[in-house]
Amino acid sequence: MSSVTLKGIGKTYSGNILAVKDFNMEIGDKEFVILVGPSGCGKSTTLRMIAGLEAINEGELYIDDKLVNEVPPKDRDIAMVFQNYALYPHMTVFENMAFGLKIRKTPRAEINERVLEAAKMLEIENLLKRKPGALSGGQRQRVALGRAIVRKPKVFLLDEPLSNLDAKLRTSMRTVLSKLHMQLGTTFIYVTHDQTEAMTMGTRIVVMKDAFVQQIAPPQELFDKPCNLFVATFMGTPQMNIAEAELIDDGKVTYLEFGGGENKTRIALPEAKGRKPEVLKYVGGRVLFGIRPNDIHAEPDFIAQHPEQTVESDVDFVELLGAESNVFIKVSEIEFACVIDSKIRMINGEKVKLAFDTEAVHIFDKETEETVTN
Ligand code: ADP
Repeated sequence: MSSVTLKGIGKTYSGNILAVKDFNMEIGDKEFVILVGPSGCGKSTTLRMIAGLEAINEGELYIDDKLVNEVPPKDRDIAMVFQNYALYPHMTVFENMAFGLKIRKTPRAEINERVLEAAKMLEIENLLKRKPGALSGGQRQRVALGRAIVRKPKVFLLDEPLSNLDAKLRTSMRTVLSKLHMQLGTTFIYVTHDQTEAMTMGTRIVVMKDAFVQQIAPPQELFDKPCNLFVATFMGTPQMNIAEAELIDDGKVTYLEFGGGENKTRIALPEAKGRKPEVLKYVGGRVLFGIRPNDIHAEPDFIAQHPEQTVESDVDFVELLGAESNVFIKVSEIEFACVIDSKIRMINGEKVKLAFDTEAVHIFDKETEETVTN
């Protein structure tokens, strides 16, 4: 059992720099929790407070049921893996991995066994005699992971471990890390600014912005039900389209009406969404609505079945990606990005009919930017 509990955790650096405020979370045994958010939002500071590398100004931190605010890093039974690997250049891979155990006076036979076991897991058995200088970036990061694994810590803390690797290697290392997490059955807490890493590896994701937690949820829930505009636009590529609209009620159906001048466009909201009291409150007023690029459809069947959600659009630009294309359109002078099956040919400058899947539309309060639909 190893859990980590943060109760009202906060940190202000000297000079009144607020780094983290009121962070509350119970991280359960074997979870893979990802802290994600733009640079400077407080992710690393949170991780470093859990590691004991940074003093906690406010709140209480528990590992299992033990309050650890004042416990030094070496006594917290955690292992941290950094972006820059931090390997000893004069030692072999084996010695690097064994170092932590050696200084803890672990018996030699056990050191050998643990290092070999970790090396096998990471598929670096053939590199044990090499020095870090003779390794690629990806191999070095595996050694850094191995060094943490051999200690069998209660919790792994990883601070942007893949950000020094090239894109292809990052993708394959994501699989390595996910597998490792399953094999080890240990709690992982992982910091990244990359939302793809968060979506693909996390069992739960914490989205942070300007020192505050915005939302904590499993990846799919975060994607489907973002709590505010920031989370909605931060998670998902290409980014969710956001536009301003007026909410209109004809007594039976609620519509979003958007666009400039005379040439406005109306799309009908499904009953379950449009007739909600929380949504109807905005009738006659202006809201922000969001739709993901994959939720704008060009398939003739979909369009035929959804006439009240079908719009006239101008194709501005088509970016062919292979199986899919990014298509940038304008509807009543408002720009939207769509992801369309490349089999449906679209040409720059032409007019096309597209249908908005309003089941997947998100509505936000214009002032607070909080969701009113999720
Ligand atoms: P992230 O990991 O999300 O990029 P950090 O936790 O590193 O963010 O930083 C959060 C805020 O705290 C930022 O404004 C950063 O400039 C500030 N900060 C981080 N470390 C220090 C430090 N040692 N001294 C002063 N300010 C710091």
